[in-house]
Order: sequence, then structure tokens, then C-alpha cells
Amino acid sequence: MLKRAAPRLVSFAGFIFAIATLAGGALAQQVAPVPKLKPTPVEAVQQVAKDAAEFEFLGALARTCFLPPSRSEDFRDIPAPYVSDPSKAPPRSSWYAEPAKVFDNLYFVGGKIHSAWALTTREGIILFDTIYPYNSEELIIGGMRKVGLDPKDIKYLIVSHAHQDHIGGAEMIQKRYNPRVVMSGPDWDLVEKVPNRFKTMAPKRDIVATDGMKITLGDSTVNLWFTPGHTDGTLSFTFQVLDRGRPVNLVYSGGTALVYEYTQPEWGIKNMQTYINSQRHVATKAKEFGATVLISNHSEFDNAYNKNRMLAGRGNGPHPYEIGPDWIQRYFTVTENCARATQIKLEQQPAAR
Ligand SMILES: [Zn+2]
Repeated sequence: MLKRAAPRLVSFAGFIFAIATLAGGALAQQVAPVPKLKPTPVEAVQQVAKDAAEFEFLGALARTCFLPPSRSEDFRDIPAPYVSDPSKAPPRSSWYAEPAKVFDNLYFVGGKIHSAWALTTREGIILFDTIYPYNSEELIIGGMRKVGLDPKDIKYLIVSHAHQDHIGGAEMIQKRYNPRVVMSGPDWDLVEKVPNRFKTMAPKRDIVATDGMKITLGDSTVNLWFTPGHTDGTLSFTFQVLDRGRPVNLVYSGGTALVYEYTQPEWGIKNMQTYINSQRHVATKAKEFGATVLISNHSEFDNAYNKNRMLAGRGNGPHPYEIGPDWIQRYFTVTENCARATQIKLEQQPAAR
């Protein structure tokens, strides 16, 4: 029996093989090999940005490469709805975040979406950005008190750019604590041109920032870099902080999201180029400065809200904000290439021709 069974098994296996070969052949005939599609010029630069971002800068990638432009800014010279009617301010649950001591001399006093930062020095505090008029009191003034800082010690207030989500508390802080206020020329001009739009927000003109300017207070120096594109006068910064006594160099990206309108492609193409040039400029300054930490004024871009929570459980581990010089360059590769992708899309608009 065994002797007879063996050839039968062999022929059965041969039969199965033949069927499989036939089926395979038929399949090959039915499903032609998929031709490799060449990426469009937009997809090609988006891919460069995606490869650079990995998981570290997903927020920056999503916002600058893939989400539609935010059209929240009202260009008319009228007060913001939450200024005319405070009940129109978003609910506290949508913006409240705990303050945090991020470095020995740098405190996060922002919210879930927008950030403000307090750099402490021997001679007082340098405050960066001021969020909205409706939450600067609780987040910045309240946040500083919560981490043991006295708002009366604010000696400099540096506003990265004149948008309502960053300049919102500047007038209140200037009036109450009388710090020197630093902003770029084009952004000082903007708030003076449309005073109603910045009602309750705009400080009185003070220091006009220029590229390469240094603001020194006590033992700290902040380098100011002119990085227009998000506004005509957006500023970015480099400065040193201390992590448990160890000096760490940091870059602060002051203008993040892309500003353009498909209805005005020519202006948008030009503005994207300004933004691209600024990203290259601040990337170079960050490299020269040896920056290993990137912060911003939107958690979407630097993940501050989540990193603060990681920091709370750090123990003896690495500092969650310290990502090294290569990742800093990757951030600017993301923003530069996403701006280029948008620029190509604008170039393809019929109105541009
Ligand atoms: Zn802005």
C-alpha cells in the first residue's frame, strides 16, 4: 500500500502545482503591473518635508503641508469679537494649561495652543509673547505667580509678531509693569495702522528690533533675527538656557504658519519666498549658535504642551525638549519645503498666469 501511495501523492502535488501555475498565469494576465506614478512637483517637496519630520514634527508638517490655510485673521480695522463682547471668548477648557519650569531659567507660561515664555536673569525677566487679551491675565500673570515669579520683575517684553494670539496681553503688561517692549518695525507700523484691530492689545511703540540685535539683561543675551513671512516683521530668537546648571542653546521660531490666499496668488508666491528665505536664515543662525532645543509660540509646532507633561516625569532621563542640532535643521527643512509646496500650488493657480 505504501509503495503505491507514494506516486499518487507525487502526482497530486504535481496537479496542485500545475493549477497554481495556471492560476498565477491567469492572474498575471488580469492584473497588469502597476505603473510607478511620478510624484507631482508638490508631492515631491511634501515628501522631503515628511521625511524630515518623522514623528518629531508631525504638527508642523500637518499645519504647513496639509491643512488648509487658517483664515482666522480679520484684516479690517475693527475690534476683535472677544474684545467687543467678552462672552465671545473661547471657553477656558479649550485653552488652559499649567505653567511649567522647563529649564533652570526658562518658564512656560502659555496655554494649550499658544505659548509665552519667561526667561529669568539676575536683573529681572525677559518675557516672550503674550497670547490673547482674554487669557493673558490667567496664563501669564497667574502662571508666573504659580511658579514663583513676580510679574513686576518683567524688564523686557519681546513680541515675536503682531498677531492677536501673541500680542494680546502686551498693552496690559506694558501699562502695569512698564517693561521695555521690543517688536520689529513693520509690526509696530501694522498695529499703528489698524489701531481698532489691536484695541486693548497694542503697546505703545518702544524698541524697534533689527536683525542681529542683542537684548542683554543680567547674565542673559537674546539674539534677535528678522524672519518675515508670517507677518512682515516676524522675529525669531536664539539664546542660552541652563538645564540643571548645564548650558543649552536654544532657537525660538517666532512665525510658524503659512500666510497666503488662493485669491491673491502673486502676493502669496512672493510671501512664500520671504518665508522660505527666513526659514533658511534662522536655520543658519541656529546652526551657528549650536542650538539643540527648538521652542515656538504654538504647541502645534514645538509640542510644548505635551513636552511639559513629559518633563514632569523626567527623573534622571534626557530633557524632552533637547533634540540635538540635526533635528533643529530638520524642523526648518519641514517648514521650508512645505512653504515651497504651497508656493508651487499658488504658481499653478490660473489667476497667476
Ligand atoms: Zn501669527
